[in-house]
Amino acid sequence: MTENDRFARERLVPGWDPGTFGRATAVVVGVGALGNEVAKNLALAGIGRLVLCDPDTVETTNLSRSVLFGPHDVGRPKTDAAAEALGRLSADTVVEPRAHDLAAGVGLGELASAAVVLGCLDSLRSRMRLLGRCALVEAPLVDGGTGPWEGEVRLRLDTREACYGCTLTAHQRSADDVPWSCLDAPAAGPLGTSIGTTALVAAWMTQAALLTVLGRPLPYRMLRVESLTGRCAPVVMTRAADCPHHRPIEGDVTACALNNRATAGELAAALAPGAEPLTWSRFPLLPRCGACHPYTEAVGDRAVADTPFSRCERCGRVLRPRFSNRLRDAAPHARLDELGVPPEEILPVRQPRGDYTWHRLSS
Ligand SMILES: [Zn+2]
Ligand SMILES: [Zn+2]
Repeated sequence: MTENDRFARERLVPGWDPGTFGRATAVVVGVGALGNEVAKNLALAGIGRLVLCDPDTVETTNLSRSVLFGPHDVGRPKTDAAAEALGRLSADTVVEPRAHDLAAGVGLGELASAAVVLGCLDSLRSRMRLLGRCALVEAPLVDGGTGPWEGEVRLRLDTREACYGCTLTAHQRSADDVPWSCLDAPAAGPLGTSIGTTALVAAWMTQAALLTVLGRPLPYRMLRVESLTGRCAPVVMTRAADCPHHRPIEGDVTACALNNRATAGELAAALAPGAEPLTWSRFPLLPRCGACHPYTEAVGDRAVADTPFSRCERCGRVLRPRFSNRLRDAAPHARLDELGVPPEEILPVRQPRGDYTWHRLSS
């Protein structure tokens, strides 16, 4: 132990291993209050690489609970502001900001390679998405949620075990497909919370993540933390037969020489004739007027998806937006990242026989 060893105190903790942390990647999904606190803790603990994923920008209401943001960050992508602050806290941690939603920000291959994934999200819909993607590649997930004075930590370390999805009804789980479900109803608004609760839940998440990285077994899978009663106790979850988040990808994953900057045409050329490469999320196609000129060119411009209605320039008919998850529908020159495919994604490819093969894009 030396005076300038940053981890001198940690080395005295039984079982602590700075080397293991230094080689580990943690993926933090959601860089709001909880994500700030968790990312800060992991960087201070000397995690080697942090992938931060969040599509949002910093708002003034974030500042009372977010250690990595200052007033000058308002309007900036949360991931960029957080990466900058984390660089000051831990020069040895490589931070990769991804200012996208989960499906476009972090590939399944990256989730598969991560030592731990941290869910710091505030909607059921995004939680279910993260749970589903982690299940596909059996990535260890530590998910947290905060209420006004209480919070929960849910671990998903083995797809055969009961998960957070098992505790919900089928309707709640399908929040993913219901844009204005009662669960995410805008009228209900966000739950109130404050830094005390955030820090409390983040501390439990950090401990669970560090122990998972060290390979130490954890005896609980869900924890409820209540500051009003002083109780913190494990909650038993029961496996629900209809919960869909227990089926990892079956079969071998083939390494693909292309990365997500390749085009849809290049990918098609690299696959066997008749193979149908698919994306996990749909990408927008140019609206088509059936009455006039039925062109089917797909675009890489995701902004099209944000324009609910456009009009045919010839006949003035309102054109409905169109989407696809078949990469052969995309323009051959459209890049995979422009179509929402994240780095190191594992793409499903439907073979002419009807079965699927799995192709992992390179980094
Ligand atoms: Zn489940
Ligand atoms: Zn027309």
